[in-house]
Amino acid sequence: MRTLDDLDVDGRRVLVRVDFNVPLKDGAVADDTRIRAALPTLNELRERGAALILVSHLGRPKDREPELSMRPVGERLSELLGVPVQQASGVVGDGVTQMAHQLSPGEVLLLENVRYEPGETKNDAVLAAGLAALADVYVNDAFGAAHRAHASTEGVAQRLPHAAGRLLEREVTTLNGILKNPAKPLVAVVGGAKVTDKVAVIDRFLEVADTILIGGAMCFPFFKAQGHAVGDSLCEEEGIEPAREALAKAAQTGARLELPTDLVLGDRFAADAQRKELDGVDVPAGWMGLDVGAKTANRYAEEIAKAGTVFWNGPMGAFELEPFAAGTRAVAEAVAAAPGTTVVGGGDSAAALQQFGLADQVTHLSTGGGASLELLEGKRLPGVEALS
Ligand code: ADP
Ligand code: MG
Repeated sequence: MRTLDDLDVDGRRVLVRVDFNVPLKDGAVADDTRIRAALPTLNELRERGAALILVSHLGRPKDREPELSMRPVGERLSELLGVPVQQASGVVGDGVTQMAHQLSPGEVLLLENVRYEPGETKNDAVLAAGLAALADVYVNDAFGAAHRAHASTEGVAQRLPHAAGRLLEREVTTLNGILKNPAKPLVAVVGGAKVTDKVAVIDRFLEVADTILIGGAMCFPFFKAQGHAVGDSLCEEEGIEPAREALAKAAQTGARLELPTDLVLGDRFAADAQRKELDGVDVPAGWMGLDVGAKTANRYAEEIAKAGTVFWNGPMGAFELEPFAAGTRAVAEAVAAAPGTTVVGGGDSAAALQQFGLADQVTHLSTGGGASLELLEGKRLPGVEALS
């Protein structure tokens, strides 16, 4: 993969694909984490004499909804960079090209939401060529979009000299490092709700990890496969067979696949639900498992403390509801305090770390949920492949 070290940018116009897909509230940026994450690349390019043309998607517009305009993002970016950010009213076209060609070194132009163009998600050749015409060089720093072959991630890279930005470079290097040469023992903590999205990652970790700790709603297909009652717990039917296969595979590879041994139950998914602790995992009818119990959380925390490398994806319970947040908090604190390399992926896991004020205490907080899982599964990411 080519990096910024391989690129001459002095006096050139650089098109940078960034991931500014940020949450908005009342017409302003509600969380600027992703904008901040792009700053090292943007500052380095400006210091090296480049003029910047930035392109990102924001949400999933269907018909150029003005609520999904990049305007508020440009305003926040301008504050963070400490320089004015020019804003184009479109993505490509004569007006945009003119603005791009008038840029002086150090100046910054932000294009409109690239998904305003229907050709973006189709990797349309005309759109890719239109983007390429704006600049001399292409840099991709949008790791969160790298698993999609879109015009602004893959198509344009075919048409300009290209390289990875610092953020994308760090994401790929760190995640590949977990698979190729991790400090041992390697402990993977997998939770959350999207079981079917994550079975492939569990499968991969059964080959490379020493220990896999399962929590969140992820554990119920495993319990069901083992013949336990799950009550009203969130239990994806399509996850049960893969869970059975994972248990069988663990017996072969020797990876330790650990499941909770106690749970916290609620009578419904709500902060004011009735709550009770269960020493065991057979969930009675009328109750749902909403968090791992204290014994499990302590056991998982001990494993994390002994790890050379920790990868964590997916909360241990419904952490958004205070009565069911303790398991996730214990794991988050253990990950933050762990002496080994700690890597966290997944939007909700990142939100949990932030909620507990621990986001800056991990080695690497991945900005790409889906992309990080696909990379760890061993899939090729089209946006990354295009940079080699
Ligand atoms: P990430 O975004 O980190 O990959 P997911 O999106 O897979 O994580 O899962 C996060 C969601 O899982 C949270 O909204 C949380 O409430 C939910 N969750 C975790 N454990 C449970 C559970 N036992 N029952 C219901 N929902 C759960
Ligand atoms: Mg999520």
